Amino acid sequence: MDKQTLHPQNINQAALIIEAGMLCAFPTETVYGLGADATNDDAVLSIYQTKSRPSFNPLIVHCLDIKMAKTLVEFSPLAKTLAQFWPGPLTLVLPMKKNTQISDIVSAGLDTLAVRIPANQTAHELLKAVGKPLAAPSANPSGQLSPTNAQMVKDSFNNRVPVLDGGSCSDGLESTILAINNNEIIQLRAGALAREIIEKTIGKKIALANEKSEISAPGMLKSHYAPKANLRLNVIKPKPDEAYLAFGQTPDALTPDFSGKIKNLSPKGDLKQAAKNLFSYLNQLDDGEVKTISVAPIPNTGLGEAINDRLKRASAPR
Ligand code: AMP
Ligand code: MG
Repeated sequence: MDKQTLHPQNINQAALIIEAGMLCAFPTETVYGLGADATNDDAVLSIYQTKSRPSFNPLIVHCLDIKMAKTLVEFSPLAKTLAQFWPGPLTLVLPMKKNTQISDIVSAGLDTLAVRIPANQTAHELLKAVGKPLAAPSANPSGQLSPTNAQMVKDSFNNRVPVLDGGSCSDGLESTILAINNNEIIQLRAGALAREIIEKTIGKKIALANEKSEISAPGMLKSHYAPKANLRLNVIKPKPDEAYLAFGQTPDALTPDFSGKIKNLSPKGDLKQAAKNLFSYLNQLDDGEVKTISVAPIPNTGLGEAINDRLKRASAPR
């Protein structure tokens, strides 16, 4: 695709692109996904190529509804309980059924498949128009900031990937990923659905995946979600030559000698608002000139767990 890339004006155009075996980015409530027909080997392969994504990192398959998901994976009673959060920002890693039409490349050779039913209306309508499961990782080059609006997708692929514009993502963080092992629930990735909320709703504790876990998310790289600038975390007093990503009340220490760029994730200290703003504010501060973006401390409760996870990876040595 070249500079003439057509960005679809409506869902039917986007569906035609995907049915023709090409990629089309589309909005979800979490971040923009780089969508392909999950049953088409070549289309799925071009997701990996377009993102420069390591081939060991399997993709999440987006389904229209539970009926479609049931054609792909086995639902144990516990999995059914967790499915009450669908449609929504929760991905379940479940045993894959035999003889599905899903391309082998999607699961990177594992016998499990990560599935999710998105709540975003545009995503829902696209899935309905295509009528097939869509493989869709975040629509950004591997390792970089995730896109939460159409312009971020266009910019990060130099306008070479068609994007169905559905405005800003309401949640702004990737889905929470859970796996089930011997009736134990394991969180493989913190995300837009807070672990505490799931635990409270289902009355069961969720374990955290660690390096020793039998199950892990192969794609959880130490360095990920990274802007071009370096990140410095838990900073109350940013240095004069840094940009500052604030949270809650801006400390007095900032004035009067601090003259750098500031964005406040949520002046009132609301974690949901902070999650929604995280990637787009980092992107705005990351203007190519500033060398370091310092970030205020974020409480580690609720959605703070996922926000801090992204910040930690974004600040990891590359
Ligand atoms: P993303 O690039 O945000 O779509 O990331 C998808 C995440 O899901 C990656 O961290 C993958 O490693 C993880 N994932 C996908 N499929 C599986 C699977 N079958 N088992 C474990 N993790 C998975
Ligand atoms: Mg991603």
